[in-house]
Amino acid sequence: VKSGMKNDYLIFNKTIETQSIERRLLESAMRTAIKEDQFYIEYQPKINIETKRVIGMEALVRWNHPDLGTISPGKFIPLAEETGLIIPLGEWILKESCTQTKKWHDAGYNPLTVSVNVSVRQLEDPFFIDKVRTIVQESGLDPTWLEVEVTESIFADVKNTVAILNEIRNLGIQISVDDFGTGYSSLSYIKNLPIDILKVDQSFIKDIHQNEESNAIVQAILKIADSIGLQVIAEGIELQEHVEKLSINGCKFGQGYFFSRPLKVNAFEEFMESMLVI
Ligand code: C2E
Ligand code: CA
Ligand code: CA
Ligand code: CA
Repeated sequence: VKSGMKNDYLIFNKTIETQSIERRLLESAMRTAIKEDQFYIEYQPKINIETKRVIGMEALVRWNHPDLGTISPGKFIPLAEETGLIIPLGEWILKESCTQTKKWHDAGYNPLTVSVNVSVRQLEDPFFIDKVRTIVQESGLDPTWLEVEVTESIFADVKNTVAILNEIRNLGIQISVDDFGTGYSSLSYIKNLPIDILKVDQSFIKDIHQNEESNAIVQAILKIADSIGLQVIAEGIELQEHVEKLSINGCKFGQGYFFSRPLKVNAFEEFMESMLVI
């Protein structure tokens, strides 16, 4: 037993060591990536389900590593958050997204709202508001076309959440609660928070056409949102059945592979052209 324990200990130790080496490699690769422009943004269209028009897009960061190829945000965002690299990366993402959106407005696209994901760690940065103000000003984008997506965890994690969200809103920017329904939210909670949009989590949409509980939850969210004046968008729409169910429930806005995957700039432009023809 004793020697077995010793082995377990060694194996355990080694694993941790390997993990920490991997993490340090990834961290330093990320620093290089910021400097060398290896990150880019894909834009996933957001659709008005009734009119089928594109109302905006969510900016989703991508990392194209010269040797490793594309690394998914699910892998590097958590590490960027832990190491604090999300701060410079997040600034770059915001700047790039606002600048691109302004270009699209100038090119005559119908006004599109851009949604940018913001991590808890960024909101905790005491310079966050100043940075956002500067970035938006420099991009020339009217801030009413900008939305930030925050997850419910900020309500538990960040001190002064309400004050920070109010400052964002005072800039004219809208606030959307991402992955809504999965975290800390109680429906009464949201009444007092300065938010504009609830983004219903994919997990409820996935089986909305087959699972009465998911459907009931979505209906409840829509009802409460409506009564307190919040907009609702459904994410993770993959099937016609999802769209149908959401339409019946009166959900106006949606996003998901059924309409389009996240797209590079050129592909997004092609998508917009194709929607104009219809
Ligand atoms: P999220 O903010 O909840 O983003 C939605 C994720 O669902 C995206 O994955 C998107 O590509 C994917 N998705 C969209 N439509 C569908 C669908 O119909 N079915 C399914 N199964 N998935 C769909 P992605 O791009 O891999 O991003 C994963 C997560 O990484 C994001 O979840 C977000 O938490 C984080 N992330 C991505 N980009 C950024 C960013 O620019 N900043 C920050 N802070 N986090 C980001
Ligand atoms: Ca999001
Ligand atoms: Ca989400
Ligand atoms: Ca998420």
